[in-house]
Amino acid sequence: VIQVCLPLNTLGLSFRQAREALINAERMSELLRYPPESDPAEALPELHFRGGAVEFSNVDFSYEPGRQILHGVDFRIEPGATVAVVGGSGSGKSTLARLLLHFYDVDGGSVKVDGQDVRSVSHKSLRSMIGVVPQDSALFNNTIAYNIAYGRAGATPADVIEAAKAARIHELIQSLPAQYDTLVGERGVKLSGGERQRIAIARAVLKNPPLLVFDEATSALDTRTERAIQEELDRLAQGRSTLIIAHRLSTIVAADMILVMDHGRIVERGSHGELLRAKGLYAQMWSLQRQQSELDESGSRLTAQP
Ligand code: ATP
Repeated sequence: VIQVCLPLNTLGLSFRQAREALINAERMSELLRYPPESDPAEALPELHFRGGAVEFSNVDFSYEPGRQILHGVDFRIEPGATVAVVGGSGSGKSTLARLLLHFYDVDGGSVKVDGQDVRSVSHKSLRSMIGVVPQDSALFNNTIAYNIAYGRAGATPADVIEAAKAARIHELIQSLPAQYDTLVGERGVKLSGGERQRIAIARAVLKNPPLLVFDEATSALDTRTERAIQEELDRLAQGRSTLIIAHRLSTIVAADMILVMDHGRIVERGSHGELLRAKGLYAQMWSLQRQQSELDESGSRLTAQP
C-alpha cells in the first residue's frame, strides 16, 4: 500500500491524477482547501519558524514496497543558503521536494524544518512556509490576477502588479487583451512554459516564503527567458533557504552546496569548484553540458547564416 499522507480518495481523484498533482504544491493546497477537516495533520501543532534550516537525516524512502527510491539521504540547508540537487532522470531529485512538503512519509530517518519533524506539524503551517515554483506550472482557469494573487490571501491589485514586475512578466500581461483580467488556463489564453513559470515566480514573490523550492523546467526555454528567470530566481533566493532541483548546471554554479544524486543516493557534494576539482560524476556532467551548449551555439550560428 502506498502511503500518501493525504485523503486522496475523499477528493474523488484517481491515483494517477493525484500523483500528477503531487509535485505541484500550490495546486495541492488548493485541493486541500475543500476538505481541510479530513486531513488529520491539521490537528497537529504549528511549525515554528526559526530561520529556515532544513535537515534530511539518513532518509530511506520508497513509493511502493520492494522498490526503494532514496537510500540514506543526508544533507542540511543552513538558514538562507541555497542547495542545488543534480542527477540523472529518476535519480530521486523531485522526491526530496515531495518529502520536504510531507506529501509522503519517510520509511527511515527524518526530515526536519528548524528542528521540527515534518510529521509532527500541521500541513498548513509547513506548506505556508514553503514557496514552490514547479517545473510545469499548471494555471487555474481564471484571470492572471487571480493566478498571481493566489500566493497571498488579501493581496491588492497593486501587490499583484509589483510581483509581476519582479517576475518580469508585467509587460507581457499588459500586452494581453484584458491585461490582468485576461483568462488563462485550459479555457483561456495559452501561455508558454516560460511564461507560466514566471507567473509561478510572481506568485512566490507575493507569498514571500522563508523557504523556496524551485523545480527547474526540463523543457528548453530560449536563452533570454532562461536568463530572466535565472536572475529573478537569484533575487528571490536571497536571504531564504532554497532547494533547487536543477537540470542545467549553468544555473547553479553559485549554489552554496551542490548534491549529486545517482539512483537515490548522494554520491558527491560540494561547491561547483570543489566538484570540478574532484573530477567525478559532476565534472563529467559539466563537460558534457558544455560540449552540448557549444554544439547548440554553432548550430544556431549555422542556421542564422543566409
Ligand atoms: P527527473 O529529473 O526526470 O524529474 P527525478 O530525479 O526528479 O527525475 P523523481 O521524480 O524523484 O526523479 O523519481 C525517482 C523515482 O521514483 C523514479 O524512478 C520514479 O519512477 C519513481 N516515482 C516517482 N513518483 C512516483 C510515484 N508517485 N509512485 C511510484 N514511483 C514513483
